[in-house]
Amino acid sequence: MKIYIDFDDVICETAVFFTKAAKELFGIDVPYRDVQFFNLQKTFDLTDEQYNELMRVGHIPENLLSYAETIGASETINKWVDEGHEVMVITGRPYEAYEPSRRWLDDHNLNRIPLICVDKYGRESFNQDCSYSMTLKELYDMNFDFIVEDSPAAFEHVMHFENGKVAVFNRPWNKQVKMPNDNFIRCEGWHEIDRFFHAL
Ligand SMILES: [Mg+2]
Repeated sequence: MKIYIDFDDVICETAVFFTKAAKELFGIDVPYRDVQFFNLQKTFDLTDEQYNELMRVGHIPENLLSYAETIGASETINKWVDEGHEVMVITGRPYEAYEPSRRWLDDHNLNRIPLICVDKYGRESFNQDCSYSMTLKELYDMNFDFIVEDSPAAFEHVMHFENGKVAVFNRPWNKQVKMPNDNFIRCEGWHEIDRFFHAL
């Protein structure tokens, strides 16, 4: 099978970092379990300036490298590769975050997994043409049998893959969101995702 895996809050604990950073930078204390929106500006009620600063800090290489791995991620993904499946990490992180993101994967025993940056949320001001970037159109022209995502904002993208089954990583910001169709199954962590995958 061909597998698409999101990066932030699927294989690493990004929102946990941002809740700490919002507290340190602006004294805004929103516990992780209360992160209601995928949009962090809305979650923390930030001005544009504060939001830009939060994003800048979050994408500093040493901070990106410090994100904790989600329990079971590397183990499960490597198992799938050993079973002969083709796995790619498809991230909405900005292109300039590629190098540290690549390093994070390598440091967490995920050196066999290609990393592709796609402008999932319309944040980039131009399309970069390099080996690790892809436009949304190029992404839609691909097909994936199995998808792991946490972000409701990315659901519309993964619905382009015909009959792709989507494991929705259960997170506070998607728990109120209705699943778009029967291909989407909510999963609590990597153990459940693996069970869903092998039941197919
Ligand atoms: Mg994510």
